[in-house]
Amino acid sequence: MRCVICKRGMITPEKVQAEIKVGTDHLLVPVEAEVCEVCKECGEAYYSTETMRYLDQVRDNFVQKAITPPSVGHVYQIS
Ligand SMILES: [Zn+2]
Repeated sequence: MRCVICKRGMITPEKVQAEIKVGTDHLLVPVEAEVCEVCKECGEAYYSTETMRYLDQVRDNFVQKAITPPSVGHVYQIS
């Protein structure tokens, strides 16, 4: 399968950190995605329906505080 963005690169499965935004919080979730070998620098990744469902579930669990993953960083705002 070829990338629909650059139409040159091949799509290969790769472990990536999917990022979910919940308010000002960002969740980093390691998942398997289909990534273009040419334009992966731009962060273009294709998730399967199954992975999308998994990410939705992680978001729900986080919002409902069913899971409390460790924090690896903070968001600072200069006003
Ligand atoms: Zn590409």
